[in-house]
Amino acid sequence: MTSTGAAAWRVARCGTVSDKADSDFRSWLADGCNASMTWLADKADMRRDPSLLLSGATSVIVAAFPYRPAGESPRPRMAISLYALGRDYHAVLRERLAPVAEAIDAACGSQSRICVDSAPLRERYWAVEAGLGRIGRNNLLLVPELGSMLFLGSILTTARIEPDSPLPPSAHPCADCDAPCVRACPTHAIRPDSTVDARRCLAYLTIEHRGQLPEGTRLHGRVFGCDACALACPHNRQPLPPGQPLPDFAPLPETMSLDADELTTMSRRAFARRFAHSPLSRARTETLLRNLRHDD
Ligand code: SF4
Ligand code: SF4
Repeated sequence: MTSTGAAAWRVARCGTVSDKADSDFRSWLADGCNASMTWLADKADMRRDPSLLLSGATSVIVAAFPYRPAGESPRPRMAISLYALGRDYHAVLRERLAPVAEAIDAACGSQSRICVDSAPLRERYWAVEAGLGRIGRNNLLLVPELGSMLFLGSILTTARIEPDSPLPPSAHPCADCDAPCVRACPTHAIRPDSTVDARRCLAYLTIEHRGQLPEGTRLHGRVFGCDACALACPHNRQPLPPGQPLPDFAPLPETMSLDADELTTMSRRAFARRFAHSPLSRARTETLLRNLRHDD
């Protein structure tokens, strides 16, 4: 796995998720916290049982790739989240994990499937099961020595790989922290049970929410995503290991220089062409313009 450039990885034995994790997720859905992301509810059974994603899956390898900059934070012209400044992580992680999945299958005669965010796999749950980290007060996975500004990529496989153990409960990284992440959230989106209500979360509102924003919404200057709860976390201030983040996640000049004037005059097609390899491809020009003008 070292060759993939992942900063950490662990293996979990794959089965259905625990009843508690499943019922917590269903309660979160029942509370409406998924906002308009109906696909989360539609695929709840797959999220519970990874064998519906890959028949006979017995192991899941979860790998963490940090994206926060090693030095000073870059300053794009528009308020774009740090994760979205470089190349699209879906493509990068797939490219990097593919040789490992192929090698496993060649050696074990197994079948493997790479999941990067888009498949209904509970990557953070499996990361915790594998001992990669713990879920923080802000609902992000906290990995020792790496923090929480991470992309996660998983290899679901029918190969039987010796699993790692979860971290001991005493090792919780939030234990001695007075939760600056919760205070930093401008919209009080982090709930007492450490889940996030997407209806309030600026990451959801600026990226996923289509059409007019709900009455009374303030975006606090955000245009694409929000880093406030992650940047407030002390675990994201420790130095990253050498070679991290990977060069793939270095800010792209076209993303850094994008501004309101350019966006206003850019056609949908030109935007799609220019940002085809960037996480910004998830947005539409009209969504970004809506966000830009919203707090005026
Ligand atoms: S991403 Fe922003 S809005 Fe969402 S929970 Fe974190 S601080 Fe709050
Ligand atoms: S800021 Fe503190 S409470 Fe919040 S996730 Fe980080 S360590 Fe945990």
